[in-house]
Amino acid sequence: MIKRILIANRSEIACRIIKTCKKMGIETVAVYSDIDSESLHTKLADYKYCIGGTSAKESYLNMDLIIEAAQECGADSIHPGYGFLSENPEFNKKVIESGLTFIGPNFESMALLGSKTASRELMIKNNVPVVPGLKSNSGALEDYINFANSAGYPVLIKAAAGGGGKGMRIVRQEGELEESIATAKRESMSAFGSEEVFIEKYIEEPRHIEFQVAGDKFGNYIHLFERECSLQRRHQKIIEESPSTALDDELRERMANAAINAVQSAGYDNIGTVEFLLDKNNNFYFLEVNARIQVEHPITEEVTNTDLVEMQINISNGLKLDTAKIYTQNGWAIECRIYAEDGFNNFLPSSGKILYLQTPEGDGIRYDSGIETGSNISVFYDPILAKLIAYANTREDARLKIIDALKNNVILGVRTSIPFMIKLLESDEFIKGNTYTNLIEQKYNEFTKYDDESTLHYAIAAASNINRSADSYTEPWLGLGKWEILSNFGE
Ligand code: ADP
Ligand code: ADP
Ligand code: MG
Repeated sequence: MIKRILIANRSEIACRIIKTCKKMGIETVAVYSDIDSESLHTKLADYKYCIGGTSAKESYLNMDLIIEAAQECGADSIHPGYGFLSENPEFNKKVIESGLTFIGPNFESMALLGSKTASRELMIKNNVPVVPGLKSNSGALEDYINFANSAGYPVLIKAAAGGGGKGMRIVRQEGELEESIATAKRESMSAFGSEEVFIEKYIEEPRHIEFQVAGDKFGNYIHLFERECSLQRRHQKIIEESPSTALDDELRERMANAAINAVQSAGYDNIGTVEFLLDKNNNFYFLEVNARIQVEHPITEEVTNTDLVEMQINISNGLKLDTAKIYTQNGWAIECRIYAEDGFNNFLPSSGKILYLQTPEGDGIRYDSGIETGSNISVFYDPILAKLIAYANTREDARLKIIDALKNNVILGVRTSIPFMIKLLESDEFIKGNTYTNLIEQKYNEFTKYDDESTLHYAIAAASNINRSADSYTEPWLGLGKWEILSNFGE
């Protein structure tokens, strides 16, 4: 049985895992880089271990060092969280080979699902619908041109090893194809160490709908319904909700069956997420399996009253899933990812010190955070600061609740995505549930228009910039740039 877990991660997800471990009476070891020595996750864990380094490569991606740390600290298992090494089958295998438990699926299934091209092939074999496309980059340019002509433009060039929205290129006409393939290959090589790309039909204004699934070591599978993650910037989610406004019971069941079929066909044995695109005619297409805990897992936890980290640990302990249990989807949950980036300036990353943090509280409000007043936000890691989740009986109540909570989430010192998310949640499109993956891109100017309502939030955004400008300008007010309008605030 698992007694001491080393968490090979940082920030909010490390803190989230510690919370469940405390509840289960399991000890935790936090690892940290040189610049993370004061990070919240190191304070919450029972033990901490410095793996040194600054960049992800030197620290949280250093497999051997992390395994060594686990052995030195007497940990019996490793939880990889999301991002970093979480979907790396080589790491998974090394952990097992060193006699530790990897809290996640077996490495064979992880390897099979890790490549978007290999998993596409597997899905085709198992009758799970995929986006029309070609196998891989083995073909010549002519194959791409022929495919694009028969499927029709736009098409999408994707990295087989892609993740986090990276390594994708939309192509709108034949003349752009050759260059886009070369760029995608280059991007994929530098981000993922692989040149393999493939071509897919670009689905217009789709919704992103994914299913939370789980399998155990005995071949049992369950699903915990869907999450809609259509609100994205740069192909990466920023607001998610469960249930989705787009599904009725019949479609939900068909997609859930396809999701279970997808993981079952790979011999998958832990919790995971099967991502789909849903087009305007309610056709759904498999995108990929995320073989790990998902950033947006809390909304599923809220509507199904389940602890997904606990489920991961139980499965890794060799416990059976309770297949007799009937899971239901109750109420509505919305999550906002609070990023250290400027929503009003094309989501430009922001770094600095958190000078002040006020976290929202209240019935149905959950704040999964990796920060506190005094935390340093560096440019070296993902800019996620926290996740705000609101739960209520109805979608409208959850929407109003999360807007209110966002307004009470004061973060000074870095720019955040909060003011932008308030505008998005107040838009007609969100209210009506008319969401699709390129909505933010299409209506960006509308969502970022100045009005009185959001004055306070502009003020907070501006105030947070004063800190940064104080370092880089002799006259701090100069650093306010376009926020100078605030000199009239309150008059
Ligand atoms: P989810 O699929 O759980 O919603 P994301 O796709 O946003 O999550 O990715 C989760 C986190 O992991 C993000 O911080 C993202 O930047 C990072 N990430 C995901 N996949 C990769 C990858 N292959 N390489 C690097 N970072 C990744
Ligand atoms: P990642 O591994 O980076 O998460 P995914 O394949 O899951 O990559 O796609 C991420 C997002 O990119 C989707 O949610 C969607 O917005 C967009 N996307 C991916 N494939 C397509 C496609 N064929 N057509 C339209 N949008 C797509
Ligand atoms: Mg994805």
